[in-house]
Amino acid sequence: MSQRAQHPTRNAVVALAAAGIGVTAVFGAGASAVAAEAKAPLAMDTAAAVAAQAQAQAQAAQQAAAAKAAQAAKAKAAEAKAAKAAAVKAAAKKAAAAKKATKAAAWVKPVAGYTLTAGYNQGGAMWTNKHSGQDFAVPVGTPVKAVHGGTVVKAGPNGGGDGPAYGNAIVIKHPNGTYSQYAHLSKIGVKPGAKVKTGQLIAKSGNTGNSSGPHLHFEIRTTPNYGSSLNPATFLRAEGVVL
Ligand SMILES: [Zn+2]
Repeated sequence: MSQRAQHPTRNAVVALAAAGIGVTAVFGAGASAVAAEAKAPLAMDTAAAVAAQAQAQAQAAQQAAAAKAAQAAKAKAAEAKAAKAAAVKAAAKKAAAAKKATKAAAWVKPVAGYTLTAGYNQGGAMWTNKHSGQDFAVPVGTPVKAVHGGTVVKAGPNGGGDGPAYGNAIVIKHPNGTYSQYAHLSKIGVKPGAKVKTGQLIAKSGNTGNSSGPHLHFEIRTTPNYGSSLNPATFLRAEGVVL
């Protein structure tokens, strides 16, 4: 027996190693167990990865939902804002229209069916100074209306205190601080202190005082008294009334 033959196993291992077969094959079942053990963490990693992915997906979905909700809320807010702006615009338009309507109705002409005769600041033999008002030629007894609401501050003969040239006259104080005056009247229908409305009948036109013929002498003043007149045609035009 040779020495070689006495160590067959050792020789076999050496031979196997020389043949390039791995240690694993030699150890058999034991090596498989090791492989399985090595595989387990991998499986767990996969599960964890799946779970993580699921969580990430859920999170992404949640974020997307939140973003969508935020966008919807934003859109809703924008819509509400637009609606509010439209409402404000509509209200402003309505207010402007109402103001225009109010303004148009707020001042009226003192008489109807007139012919404009002597204008404001016109010179002539009839007046000591320039003409302080606008004359409306109308038949005696024509209804005279308050050009705007206010309070009667003068009413009576002698121009209501302004002088005999005016004949029977009325002065009304308006809320905007101006005064309107009506002269040469045949009949006076209001007393000082009376509240009058726009267009209210206050007198009948006439030919009293220093008058060359039946007409209404009309003034706009900045005070109740003679000497503070404005151009009545210009004033009324600014209030939407064209004579
Ligand atoms: Zn006059």
